[in-house]
Amino acid sequence: MTLLGTGAMGTALGRAWLAAGHPLTVWNRTPGRTAALTAEGAVAAGSAAEAVAANRLVVACLLDDASVGAALDSAELAGRDLVNLTTGTPADARERAAWAEKRGARFLDGGIMAVPPMIGAPGAFVLYSGDAELFEEHRAALAVPAATEYVGADPGLAALQDVALLSAMYGMFAGVTHAFALLRGTRVAPGDFAALLVPWLNAMAGTAEETAGRLSSGDYTTGVVSHLGMQVAGSGTLLRTAGEQGVSTELLTPFLDLMRERAAAGHATEDTTGLVDLLRTR
Ligand code: NDP
Repeated sequence: MTLLGTGAMGTALGRAWLAAGHPLTVWNRTPGRTAALTAEGAVAAGSAAEAVAANRLVVACLLDDASVGAALDSAELAGRDLVNLTTGTPADARERAAWAEKRGARFLDGGIMAVPPMIGAPGAFVLYSGDAELFEEHRAALAVPAATEYVGADPGLAALQDVALLSAMYGMFAGVTHAFALLRGTRVAPGDFAALLVPWLNAMAGTAEETAGRLSSGDYTTGVVSHLGMQVAGSGTLLRTAGEQGVSTELLTPFLDLMRERAAAGHATEDTTGLVDLLRTR
């Protein structure tokens, strides 16, 4: 197989394939960056076109969609199976699929849900969407660096869910950042607080399933359990505590403002699920 891009992620992927015994042709824009993989048995091609010509299965793991276009511009793609593990938007993936198919290649888009040290270890997975036959044919090779999750024929679906997962992660990072800021300079050791925070976040993560259930049923009401009215009333305590600790509320207020708006619009007995709809009305 061929791997285009031997940056941090490409090198991790390449190592996993080589370790599993897959012959690998590699290409990188800056040739020196293929050294780690050639030392482990990969063959370096002099150009992307040469690398693409070497194998039917071509995996691209480049910086962004524009770099995929730049790298493959002069390559002959007819008869190739192009698997694009470069992070992009759903529209990027759909346009790249049409571009590849017009040039005679089958196309599969992938969203890597891991950082390089996780590659080859349990917990890493890649979301795939696009050509189902390509996926089935190369499933065993694709499963070497990370578990595979095929999410549909629409090439944009992997990128959409990749970005949705990353967006949820950034929301969590924002909350964790605010929490540590509240405690900074106090007698609470960061490590002691982390021991409380991790199980708390794990317990709260389960609420995503409740949200999914409410979005499916259309019934957002929760009765007396943590409804928006109660949460909006309680939010004053969060803001006052931030003030007491000298911490900006800028990471908190966007979400609290949406809760207040939704509650004021007559939805005080619902949980936060209605904020999903509110965001889509802007
Ligand atoms: P790096 O910055 O380490 O590598 C980027 C790669 O893209 C290099 O091979 C670089 O070549 C190449 N490149 C950049 N611009 C161009 C161009 N115009 N033409 C040709 N090649 C180009 O990034 P990563 O390896 O970490 O990331 C690669 C992809 O993997 C990205 O889409 C990233 O979002 C995704 N990913 C990365 C994760 C991570 O934690 N690192 C996690 C999940 C996904 P050169 O060496 O010449 O600069």
